[in-house]
Amino acid sequence: MHKCFPARGVMEGLLSRCRALPAPTTCGRQLSGYVPHRFYHRGPERGKRLVLSRMFQPQNLREDQVLSPEGRSGDLSCKSQRLMLQVGLIHPASPGCYHLLPYTVRAIEKLERVIDQEMQAIGGQKVNMPSLSPAELWRATKRWDLMGKELLRLRDRHGKEYCLGPTHEEAITALVASQQTLSYKQLPFLLYQVTRKFRDEPRPRFGLLRGREFYMKDMYTFDSSPEAALETYGLVCGAYSSLFHRLGLQCVRVQADVGSIGGTTSHEFQLPAEVGEDRFAVCPGCGFSANMETLHSSQTSCPACRGPLTESRGIEVGHTFYLGTKYSSVFSAQFTNAHGKPCLAEMGCYGLGVTRILAAGIEVLSTEDSVRWPSLLAPYHVCLIPPKKGSREEAATELTGGLYDLITEAVPQLRGEVLLDDRTHLTIGNRLKDANKFGYPFVIIAGKRALEDPAHFEVRCQNTGEVVFLTREGVTEFLSQVQVV
Ligand SMILES: [Zn+2]
Repeated sequence: MHKCFPARGVMEGLLSRCRALPAPTTCGRQLSGYVPHRFYHRGPERGKRLVLSRMFQPQNLREDQVLSPEGRSGDLSCKSQRLMLQVGLIHPASPGCYHLLPYTVRAIEKLERVIDQEMQAIGGQKVNMPSLSPAELWRATKRWDLMGKELLRLRDRHGKEYCLGPTHEEAITALVASQQTLSYKQLPFLLYQVTRKFRDEPRPRFGLLRGREFYMKDMYTFDSSPEAALETYGLVCGAYSSLFHRLGLQCVRVQADVGSIGGTTSHEFQLPAEVGEDRFAVCPGCGFSANMETLHSSQTSCPACRGPLTESRGIEVGHTFYLGTKYSSVFSAQFTNAHGKPCLAEMGCYGLGVTRILAAGIEVLSTEDSVRWPSLLAPYHVCLIPPKKGSREEAATELTGGLYDLITEAVPQLRGEVLLDDRTHLTIGNRLKDANKFGYPFVIIAGKRALEDPAHFEVRCQNTGEVVFLTREGVTEFLSQVQVV
């Protein structure tokens, strides 16, 4: 796909030319926000185009102006949190809670679509359970006390106790148990949801990496035998690996502690990252891998082959548990077997940190000052930059609008994915700087060569840094290869 790109020297030349362009005054930049707003209402065809000046994106591009809800800017100890606050992807609401702004919501919706595809490919059925979870369910499994202060508790006007669910083993098992006539022939059931979860973290930090309110995908599986349940376990782990592969995130599956969820077998999917709060060990010799919590504190050799272990830090982005009958026995979640006898369902539960995956992806892919997205999750795939108003290239302004319309017609999957940076009071160089910071995978510029016959547009592939000049037809052919979810 990138074979046709010119050598790096060309790109460097372009970069130095962009740097040579004069920067606008800060004042002009702030005041100009309203001008394109009026333009937007002028012609009906303009209204169909997505224009950058209309985006609700409270930016804090000056680092010293960024305040995390946890305190002053000095506490912004990880890259993804700092960048997401700076470019207006999230906004602090209260400690450990953030407003998710439009770009982030688009990215999260895309992530949810990829998750749906992977979960439904293995037979997953989507449900949606209430966040308010009655205390009696949690008392039945003794987790009302075991969960301690992490459980966010509240009472309704009748004095009835609830928690805001951090996970839903109790709720889903009670739901399945309420079905009196389940047969082994109907199993397995793979039920999942993508909803907000709550955890009263003692120290929320790192933005969306460790918040008090966050999105999680949680799946609960019900099988007729331990063998079938372990087969399902393998299927879900395979779907997780496929998901991370599609996102371009190189996660490691490690053995894990069962913690407060319980059960007998558990794995974590760890994304290697300096900022990660987990430590895991990998044996390069035999492939054994485990969270350090599961090993003896002084262990330096592999329990499987005695070879040396390599230690890494990681962000836990997924967790899987084989639960057996731990929950089904409490709520009598039963089915009738081939002999007509009632049997307890064999369960598994499987979590994916949805907001965390997005932040972790940004954490490991971004540079120090520019956001980079897992390609599939980019909020907008293409940003078009028309010439500066009053510049020699201004004649190419209409061509850029025409190219916008052509792309959305000729490349149907990019409808709603193309942004026009209509802030034409700014130089191309300054708008390119912003586009670079926001990380649109493809930036298309109408510069000097847009005045040639036929017009050539500069296409920048942000994830590889490569640049190519293409005609209108060349642009649409090139973009038709872009994968959108
Ligand atoms: Zn080993």
